[in-house]
Amino acid sequence: MDNNLFKPGERVAVAASGGKDSTVLAYVMSELNRRHNYGLDLFLLSVDEGITGYRDDSLETVKRNEIEYGLPLKVVSYKDLYGWTMDEIVKTIGLKNNCTFCGVFRRQALDRGAALLKADKLVTGHNADDIAETVLLNILRGDIARLSRCTFITTGEDGPIPRCKPFKYTYEKEIVMYAYFKKLDYFSTECIYSPNAYRGFAREFIKDLERMRPRAILDIIRSGENFRTATSTKMPEQGTCERCGYISSQKLCKACLLLEGLNRGLPKLGIGRARGTNGLNKRVEQRNLRSERTGSNIESKQCGTLDF
Ligand code: SF4
Repeated sequence: MDNNLFKPGERVAVAASGGKDSTVLAYVMSELNRRHNYGLDLFLLSVDEGITGYRDDSLETVKRNEIEYGLPLKVVSYKDLYGWTMDEIVKTIGLKNNCTFCGVFRRQALDRGAALLKADKLVTGHNADDIAETVLLNILRGDIARLSRCTFITTGEDGPIPRCKPFKYTYEKEIVMYAYFKKLDYFSTECIYSPNAYRGFAREFIKDLERMRPRAILDIIRSGENFRTATSTKMPEQGTCERCGYISSQKLCKACLLLEGLNRGLPKLGIGRARGTNGLNKRVEQRNLRSERTGSNIESKQCGTLDF
């Protein structure tokens, strides 16, 4: 309530994967809206990545929740938006950088779906564990730009559709218990293309810390909130992608770069991180093209759902 996430009359799209976090979020949002008369227009928004045996099954869960909670559902697919399914991408690139493609495409797909719904806000089910993990990953990657915004409860306020994370301070364990005791219908199978070290060592490290001191998760989030970026640090300047108009600090947004790589048969073209200057962007591109020829892996990121 203190964060004033919503205003009466707003159209709010709930990013719904069928998993526990987004199912609890959709349930809680619809319950609070009904009980306390918030006056929100709620919608479910799902992304179909085209992962046979995983997303098709989880979308069935979302469709049941659409009926149960009485929330209209919109599904946007990678095939329609980008011309590729994740099954096709994995067939082309293998299982090394699949989550980089998937995470970048998903982020943009959610924004595009929310725009189709004419939503004022997009809410995601990221919980405290996810955010603590992202703080650690951004520190390890030295990603100052993301570090400074990954703990915000609302991001993109200056853009067309701000994103909110109402579960920012909610432990994953609390969400699991809530879903269990409320007997909510959710899908718990892991993606078939998930890297073996799903969510990586940062998640394991956080779980170890939590076992020793449960508050460690909230402490990491607080630490992330208290980071201050030196005023002399050069931050990427936000503009728009020349090709698709999506927000980007480069001439081409990451999704267009990845797509170009796929379509040209050079899938590593857009892999790797660019830091906001065109010169560096070019160097990343050249390095990736070199890697394309030598076959070495530039960056293998864990599940892209964390990349927010
Ligand atoms: Fe996409 Fe997540 Fe599956 Fe990776 S693990 S392919 S990011 S759904």
